[in-house]
Amino acid sequence: MTLFIVGGAGYIGSHMVKLAHLAGHEVITLDNLSTGHKDAVLYGKFEYCDIQDSNRLSELFKKYQPDAVMHFSAYSLVGESMTDPYKYYQNNTVGTLNLLKAMIDHDCKKFIFSSTAAVFGNPEYTPIDETHPKAPINPYGKSKLMIEQMLEDFDSAYGLKYVVFRYFNAAGEDLDGELTERHDPETHLLPLIMQTVRGEREVISIYGNDYDTKDGTCVRDYIHVKDLSRVHLQGVEYLMQEGSGDSKVYNLGNGEGFSVKEVIEKVREITGVEFNVIEANRRAGDPATLIASSKSAKKELGFAPQINKLEDIIKSLV
Ligand code: UDP
Repeated sequence: MTLFIVGGAGYIGSHMVKLAHLAGHEVITLDNLSTGHKDAVLYGKFEYCDIQDSNRLSELFKKYQPDAVMHFSAYSLVGESMTDPYKYYQNNTVGTLNLLKAMIDHDCKKFIFSSTAAVFGNPEYTPIDETHPKAPINPYGKSKLMIEQMLEDFDSAYGLKYVVFRYFNAAGEDLDGELTERHDPETHLLPLIMQTVRGEREVISIYGNDYDTKDGTCVRDYIHVKDLSRVHLQGVEYLMQEGSGDSKVYNLGNGEGFSVKEVIEKVREITGVEFNVIEANRRAGDPATLIASSKSAKKELGFAPQINKLEDIIKSLV
């Protein structure tokens, strides 16, 4: 297969590029390097491209005629989306619409889309399955839900087939150390804790201790980036099967929730390092609990996470 990996220079995208290349596919990364790193694209070809630029997209679709597009290129910070929603709707929603238009124009009709647990908002029940009501509480989640809705219409009208994956908390690094997680600024819990362990930060803040959870701190379901990449490949293979039929939406997590305090404790235990922790105010836009039910992905796609213990996810960072 010839695959466009949009956002292949980013955290999850760069792991996807590596896995798809090693599986024997021709991989072309399209990225505007706004948050990604060119030196993270270790395999396949790299093409500079902003998804807002229709002419550039058209040129690249003509040049490579990809069989499928995997789309990882999005802004994904809940807190930032609360203070700068324009950035999220412009890049995530409008940019993706532009990308989908280029696909239809060039008769490329297989699409893998990175969505998010943030489309659900505050859960009515957990674990959250695919049919759980969607009521996002931040612009990030809304920007992704809009795309999910557009995709349904693009399927009905143009025959675009897709697999949407809603990630819970992607975490961890490449086990052979080739790829790391690099965000600037870093805002994610595990990388920030690891910076504190290494002495690169003085303290880790716990955002909120009065949530309705087991210890008052937010609960999340962490899934290793390599397991995520593997199931994306299964998704694209499903779409490429002759007469594969229906588009699909899957939630991806390990089905177990850990509070911020539990994650901090686990890192202390594994590293043996004592580090400073302070309790701070809530971060706007954070739901209290997000835990996935991935039963559908397991049953239908054969999703079988291998690094499924928080302990092993943390060990991949040490
Ligand atoms: N969090 C925290 N301190 C930090 C960074 C994050 O307490 O320095 C909390 C955050 O409020 C959320 C959880 O850790 O409840 C996971 O946040 P992250 O940004 O890693 O992922 P998100 O859930 O936003 O996708």
